[in-house]
Amino acid sequence: MFDNLSDKLDKALHVLKGHGKINEVNVAETMKEVRRALLDADVNFKIAKDFTKRVREKAIGQNVLTTLQPGQLMVKIVKDELTELMGGEAEGINLGGSPSVILMSGLQGSGKTTFSGKLANFLKNKKGKKPLLVACDVYRPAAIDQLHVVGDQIQVPVYSDRGNNDPVAIAKAGIAQAKAEGNNVVIIDTAGRLAVDEQMMDEIANIHKAIKPEETLFVVDSMTGQDAVNTAKAFNDILNFDGVILTKLDGDTRGGAAISIKSVVNKPIKFIGTGEKMEAIDVFHPARMADRILGMGDVVSLVERAQEQFDEEEARKLQRKIAKNKFGFDDFLNQIQQIKKMGNLKDLMGMIPGAGKALKGLDIDDDAFKHVEAIIHSMTPDERSTPSMLNASRKKRIAKGSGRSVQEVNQLLKQFDQMSKMMKMMQGGGGRKMMQMMGG
Ligand code: GDP
Repeated sequence: MFDNLSDKLDKALHVLKGHGKINEVNVAETMKEVRRALLDADVNFKIAKDFTKRVREKAIGQNVLTTLQPGQLMVKIVKDELTELMGGEAEGINLGGSPSVILMSGLQGSGKTTFSGKLANFLKNKKGKKPLLVACDVYRPAAIDQLHVVGDQIQVPVYSDRGNNDPVAIAKAGIAQAKAEGNNVVIIDTAGRLAVDEQMMDEIANIHKAIKPEETLFVVDSMTGQDAVNTAKAFNDILNFDGVILTKLDGDTRGGAAISIKSVVNKPIKFIGTGEKMEAIDVFHPARMADRILGMGDVVSLVERAQEQFDEEEARKLQRKIAKNKFGFDDFLNQIQQIKKMGNLKDLMGMIPGAGKALKGLDIDDDAFKHVEAIIHSMTPDERSTPSMLNASRKKRIAKGSGRSVQEVNQLLKQFDQMSKMMKMMQGGGGRKMMQMMGG
């Protein structure tokens, strides 16, 4: 996410980060480079210019050059301004209605249907809501099918009416059904076009007027940069929407839309989409995003994700197994599943301060665990629970079965062994031993 921008800002701020003497000349030079980095990220020219102007003014106001750590203060000013530019505080959505109606708007392909599903899933699992999805695209039957597929996947009901070509009537009927069935949130997916056109705008404006949603969200593909900002402006002029959803941030290396959109339409980014899976949704936190852009990681989000997946009962079971030396490859597989649920690996790595840069160029993908899983799946249940029984011929068989080399099998066994030892040590009073081992 935003790798290019992070890289360029990192280079621009290099001097200030304590790698040289700081004076008015190189502060000015740095600001010029920051501006260039923003422009390369497809941030609007005026926004980039104002941004560096504000940073400079703040720096002068705070007498940066006379402070003890001028570089760090400058970086902090850049971070604060970046946060402010993206919206300051995180904003939630209005769930005050009964039911709360959420209207989705945006171009075709922006990720509206996918996001409708993600939001329904999020509200169901994290907020205990009972959502109903409503399919209001009367032009593309495939869009209705797609929403049904999504609904089945997350087990959320979908209202559609294939014979009806009046989206206002469908939306109203959907809301009526929600009332009758006790659904307290209604998410209305609408038709989009490939570009802004009058008919689409009229249609979404009519739906908006007729149903008066609690929340109108504009969904936009982050990778489209300045176009995303222009489209946002067109939709906002008609709908005066409440918030922006930026999708496909996982593929966006530049970040121009994320940085510019708030100051152009003066509406907050509320959620981001970071992948095709239903779980790839995050509340947008401007400060955390600024940290990530500046390569400072996002430990808070990382811990939150870990906590979401953390199951106390499972953890206790695992502890007992470790204590009894019963930790086997099935438990290991389980752990891998849990990590995978936290999200795409590259994304997770990006949340570790400094890791993004260190791991740059490394091709980590969702399948990073594929080989390990294949090897474990080729083991018999006995072998998985008692790895010590793995002799040369068994290893050979496992390698053949998984399509990996014996070397790789050995490597995994070694890692597993080290991990088991470490876990055992970290248990009962082992913390001290561990510290000793690490020279503490
Ligand atoms: P709609 O026409 O606005 O309803 O868009 P869709 O929901 O059909 O999404 C268009 C394409 O973008 C689909 O292939 C989705 O899987 C993909 N997509 C949606 N959101 C994301 C995201 O956050 N990341 C990635 N990588 N792909 C996404």
